[in-house]
Amino acid sequence: MLNIRIEKTTEPKQKPAAGQKLGFGKIFTDHMFVMNYTEGKGWYDARVVPFSRISLSPAAMVFHYGQEMFEGLKAYRGADGKAYLFRPDMNAKRTNATNRRLCIPEIPEEDFVQAVKTVVDVDSDWIPREEGTSLYIRPFIIATDEFLGVAPSQNYLFMVILSPSGAYYENGLAPVGIWIEDEYVRAVKGGIGFAKTGGNYAASLIAQVKAHDEGFSQVLWLDGVERKYIEEVGAMNIFFKINGTVVTPMLNGSILPGITRDSVLHLCREWGIPTEERRISVEELLLAQQNGTLEEVFGTGTAAVISPVGKLRFKDDVMTIHDGKIGPLSQKLYDAVTGIQRGGAEDPFGWRVLVK
Ligand SMILES: *Cc1c(COP(=O)(O)O)cnc(C)c1O
Repeated sequence: MLNIRIEKTTEPKQKPAAGQKLGFGKIFTDHMFVMNYTEGKGWYDARVVPFSRISLSPAAMVFHYGQEMFEGLKAYRGADGKAYLFRPDMNAKRTNATNRRLCIPEIPEEDFVQAVKTVVDVDSDWIPREEGTSLYIRPFIIATDEFLGVAPSQNYLFMVILSPSGAYYENGLAPVGIWIEDEYVRAVKGGIGFAKTGGNYAASLIAQVKAHDEGFSQVLWLDGVERKYIEEVGAMNIFFKINGTVVTPMLNGSILPGITRDSVLHLCREWGIPTEERRISVEELLLAQQNGTLEEVFGTGTAAVISPVGKLRFKDDVMTIHDGKIGPLSQKLYDAVTGIQRGGAEDPFGWRVLVK
């Protein structure tokens, strides 16, 4: 249990007006959580302080070798007006899986959850109320040693910042077009694909730009060795409904283990829909598309929850899925997950967590 000092701002900012377009990741709340780490001393000085700039040496290791990690989750305004989180224990576990890979010291899971709850509670008035909106939570850790040698840092900062964000879909679930990337790769086995860290994103930008230029909104990555098997979308996991079975690539070390992915698998199993976690090749998709068994495709992630895919392009082939419209399973999953998150639906798995 952390002893968290709370220092409230004396200059609260103007909160976004009701109905104002929030977008994503541009507005920040009044406070942030901060905690330091020093080798030999451990994590210390947990505090909630006014949101402000931070001062680091230009030689801070994070700027040079990218030793950093991040998480992403949301706080929701429940139907009862209270603040809720969705499976924050999973973010805590994944934090430590990432940290172990990147030689960043672990944070006790309960301390991670306590830090998130405390700062969200202090800024709970910032959780927007409109349908589909939420307070995006961004925990992250950076290496702060002033040192240009290559080694794990001995000092770190763990911070949690908060950003009110708008509905991902303003006009209902709109299917997206996805570009299957056959030149660049995102991750390889033994690398850092399963870790939530900036390096994966830095490596992905070039393909993202290329896909945008071609008129597609996201990149679907293939495995780094054979460039044959589907891995995931830049910030989402991917699911296919083929002939009644829900198929998603198995967690093989180069795929990010999404919490939405895990939740979707639980729900499908609960509903009696057959699921498979396995390798799936582009060739299999093209065949399924040709023989009419590729019923639905959707991405899963905290930001969009469920993102239906209407179009998939691989080299010269363009596959149109479900007539470019959202499929019934995608809609049902979206309604179920958001219903649990906001408290409108039953919560059979105990995923919804009251902030206070
Ligand atoms: C965060 C992330 C996801 C989605 O994970 P969720 O826990 O469902 O939000 C998928 N892929 C990548 C690369 C990610 O960083």
